[in-house]
Amino acid sequence: MHLKTLTLRGFKSFASATTLNFEPGVTCVVGPNGSGKSNVVDALAWVMGEQGAKSLRGGKMEDVIFAGTAGRPPLGRAEVSLTIDNTDGALPIEYTEVTISRTLFRNGGSEYAINGRGCRLLDIQDLLSDSGLGREMHVIVGQGQLDAVLRATPEERRGFIEEAAGVLKHRKRKEKALRKLDAMQANLVRLGDLTSEIR
Ligand code: ATP
Repeated sequence: MHLKTLTLRGFKSFASATTLNFEPGVTCVVGPNGSGKSNVVDALAWVMGEQGAKSLRGGKMEDVIFAGTAGRPPLGRAEVSLTIDNTDGALPIEYTEVTISRTLFRNGGSEYAINGRGCRLLDIQDLLSDSGLGREMHVIVGQGQLDAVLRATPEERRGFIEEAAGVLKHRKRKEKALRKLDAMQANLVRLGDLTSEIR
């Protein structure tokens, strides 16, 4: 599995559609300060499901939409598509090439797609997490993050190891199931109250 292309349209400083083609092996992105190198990495994290505006170096999610320049008005949406070569079947899907896309509208609406077919954010996160890619998988190591690992507490270090071992996905599912159980428990208590009121 390797990343093949990344297309940005209206994402941060990339107002016009821009496609980056990656070959297998190491790719270096070079350019002057402020030219948008980190924005490319932000786009990768975003299309793979990043939900934290701070992780994308913004204050709110809308900050990923091109905000305009002296010569160009702001845009109403940001779109990023990532095409992944899946000939080795690392992603659990019956396609040798997988394109995931994410769009955010300035009014707050979002759209997600896998190979052009609309889906939920959760579908993208699930698809990627099975292969060790995606949000909170530490496949993207940002500036300053190495320091954070070196300064991590034993609990945080355990978190990294759990992620590397693939436990994270199951822990998240367990947390979700426990939340549902809590809600169900509250409903049962309410039902008990109502039943005793009726009696
Ligand atoms: P450095 O080498 O200094 O780390 P860089 O090449 O990584 O720089 P980025 O941080 O990717 O640069 O890009 C910063 C530029 O992106 C700034 O000029 C900033 O104004 C622009 N930018 C960020 N968000 C938006 C946005 N929503 N709309 C327009 N431009 C944006």
